[in-house]
Amino acid sequence: MRDLELFSQALGLQEPWRVVETSFDAGQRRLDLRLDFEPGARFACPECERPGCEVHDTSEKSWRHLDFFQHQAYLTARVPRVRCPEHGVHQVKLAWARAGSGFTLLFEALLMALVAEMPVRAVADLVGEHDTRLWRVVHHYVDAARAREDLSALERVGIDETSFRRGQDYVTLFADLDRCRCVFATPGRDADAVTRFAADLRAHGGDPDQVTEVCQDMSEPYLLGVLGNLLRAQITFDRYHVKAQLSKAVDEVRRQERKQQGELLKGSRYLWLRKPTTLSEKQRAQLDGLLRQPLKTVRAYNWALKFDAIYELPPAQAEHYLRAWVRGAVRSRLQPLIDFAHLVENHWSGILRWFQSRVSNGLLEGLNSLVQAAKRRARGYRSTRNYIAMIYLTVGKLNLALPT
Ligand SMILES: [Zn+2]
Repeated sequence: MRDLELFSQALGLQEPWRVVETSFDAGQRRLDLRLDFEPGARFACPECERPGCEVHDTSEKSWRHLDFFQHQAYLTARVPRVRCPEHGVHQVKLAWARAGSGFTLLFEALLMALVAEMPVRAVADLVGEHDTRLWRVVHHYVDAARAREDLSALERVGIDETSFRRGQDYVTLFADLDRCRCVFATPGRDADAVTRFAADLRAHGGDPDQVTEVCQDMSEPYLLGVLGNLLRAQITFDRYHVKAQLSKAVDEVRRQERKQQGELLKGSRYLWLRKPTTLSEKQRAQLDGLLRQPLKTVRAYNWALKFDAIYELPPAQAEHYLRAWVRGAVRSRLQPLIDFAHLVENHWSGILRWFQSRVSNGLLEGLNSLVQAAKRRARGYRSTRNYIAMIYLTVGKLNLALPT
């Protein structure tokens, strides 16, 4: 009898619940605890907390609990439904598990601690459960935490896309640039993603008209989405995305020229795309050799270096410098560079806005690297919903309100 009392206490069971039977199977590495309530016990209605409701019927349920040393532990109980004069028949609230879960709250807390550190599939292997059961737990806590979110202070927003499943699927992230966390993630990368963000913001006490700064890439869909939904926002085009477009242009010049100068340009691709300071000595020497050649790629490269220099300038000189750069680049006779110069002209104020807002570098960058870590953690899962849950868990700074 004493060991039953011990287990009741260890589980923190409250009247009228107690452990009535234990069975231990060393071969199956399994400990089973049967819980029960005293005959004639009455329970509170789960809807109104009215105490003393009579038991209507019971149904048998089991929950996996924290391991007992190296043995899996399970609780089993007949769970009563009570009849409330006001609310009718409902299953009672249990202190050790939430409705519908096959795990105890403490086991779920353990799972959530583990999935924060390792891939869900690895956690599944570790605890010997199927990963779909684990994802259900993850979604429950993430959804509940998101439902409690307060976004009333949100003012500066970063928008970025992240690809999933080898670039076949996209998710758009919305970051609070002041608190450095992702506040919303949604499938797709179209203007509707921004519309969904605005709706979600309203649903969490925020106000789309209160968003004053947006940092994003130069893509048309995001631009349309922001112009249509975040009416007071000033747009900054993220400098790293601008730079990526320029690198693409340089690479395109190299690709075209390779047809005539194949031997000379062979194996040089990354020399043109990386910062000179990040090259090895050998690469640097190779680049220096190429820079003395009368190549179109060299001219494109030099135009790109001149463009990069703008971000080092004092704000007062930036616009004048950029105007001169565009004037020169459109006469470069290098079509990819000319196209980029037109892109700059068409995104003029958003590129220059950086000199006032200074949003992007670091903030979005840091977030992105964490999202990449989340991607690794969600790897192997084909569902965008799982990926998004992992993003919230990793860069959402959610309050999961886990049992302790
Ligand atoms: Zn009731």
